[in-house]
Amino acid sequence: MAAQTVASTPDAATSANPSASTLSAASTGSVDLGPAAALSCRECGHRVPLGPVFACEECFGPLEVAYDFSAYDTEELRARIEAGPANIWRYAPLLPVPADVADKPNINPGWTRLVKAENLARELGVDPGRLFVKDDSGNPTHSFKDRVVAQAIEAARAFGFTTLSCSSTGNLAGAVGAAAARAGFRSCVFIPHDLEQGKIVMAAVYGGELVGIEGNYDDVNRFCSELIGDPAGEGWGFVNVNLRPYYAEGSKTLAYEICEQLGWQLPDQLVVPIASGSQLTKVDKGLRELIELGLVEDKPYKIFGAQAEGCSPVSVAYKAGHDVVRPQKPNTIAKSLAIGNPADGPYVLDIARRTGGAVEDVNDEQVVDAIKLLARTEGIFAETAGGVTVGVAKKLIENGLLDPTLTTVVLNTGDGLKTLDAVAGTGLTATIRPSLDSFREAGLA
Ligand SMILES: *Cc1c(COP(=O)(O)O)cnc(C)c1O
Ligand SMILES: [Zn+2]
Repeated sequence: MAAQTVASTPDAATSANPSASTLSAASTGSVDLGPAAALSCRECGHRVPLGPVFACEECFGPLEVAYDFSAYDTEELRARIEAGPANIWRYAPLLPVPADVADKPNINPGWTRLVKAENLARELGVDPGRLFVKDDSGNPTHSFKDRVVAQAIEAARAFGFTTLSCSSTGNLAGAVGAAAARAGFRSCVFIPHDLEQGKIVMAAVYGGELVGIEGNYDDVNRFCSELIGDPAGEGWGFVNVNLRPYYAEGSKTLAYEICEQLGWQLPDQLVVPIASGSQLTKVDKGLRELIELGLVEDKPYKIFGAQAEGCSPVSVAYKAGHDVVRPQKPNTIAKSLAIGNPADGPYVLDIARRTGGAVEDVNDEQVVDAIKLLARTEGIFAETAGGVTVGVAKKLIENGLLDPTLTTVVLNTGDGLKTLDAVAGTGLTATIRPSLDSFREAGLA
């Protein structure tokens, strides 16, 4: 299978790739995206200069950013990172951004908390010292999407775009709206018209244009692809289409932060949500880079993918032993993960199999139970995507695929305030008169 060889090949980060050192950002001319050297095809390895392109001209495979990290000394790099700002720009030397990125108007996401989840661990029957939740609800627009948009906006600046756009399942729309407002771009984003109210408001409040499309996310995505090819879309940077190679790199920062917060160590197991699969593939890329750069000790790690049963094309393919992912029509409360035709699905399958992980899914009831479990044990209110990862972690422990004695990090990628409907049944314990009698009558004394 073609995807296998590509996904398991280290990136151009290794000096083993001779072209990496000959192509530097400087030699591509006007574009300064720091250590980013070129775009390289994940299928055939064909390299092209940095630009707003996303598909290989040779084989139509997806392009990704290749780097030249050859000049870095491990200990100098570690010291530079540790002295950096408490946001993703501490990792600027490893990202496709100019060196002075931290000085530009940006919403500066990242460096979110890694919570040692001892109470949750006890409930799940795992080693209480070794279960962690990486809580990305703490980002500026309350989801992990701020990480990826922050990369895309730097690429948009470099390529001279003036309008930022995207197709979104909700969180991305908010992240683009906020980042565009702060950086002085026009924004015009497209979402399925029936999203959660919280996500619509969170996207609209930043003042950009927000367009509801009558259809599901896959329809929205198709529409955006048409718009890119049309004069109406000229000068537009679509963060997850023509800027996708840059956008995707933002997910590496999750891997960097987790390892640094663990004291520059790899976790043994990670549970990562899957929408398009981009985040999971770049978390893996980030971990491999840290190993190649000598910033962490090389050891095996397992990556587990998490989906909702109502949109589980990757999980279904994984369990059936397939290499291809058959599209589904999504029907789940986990709308931020409801991508029925995930672009990175085959790469996710590779990574789960190569690392010894798995892909699993939980139903909507289990998602809600997991949201409540995380809230009641750790005081973390996750959106439905977090219910999916926690629910899947629980299921993987029960079916023996996740080792309860090893260091495990479960990602919560969004804030429960955005998906209040999911826990709509939760409310008042009692309503009483403002009197002690009434308090006692209600059985609360
Ligand atoms: C977008 C998103 C993801 C991951 O999306 P990918 O397309 O797989 O990168 C995960 N969680 C939340 C809350 C998201 O909004
Ligand atoms: Zn190619």
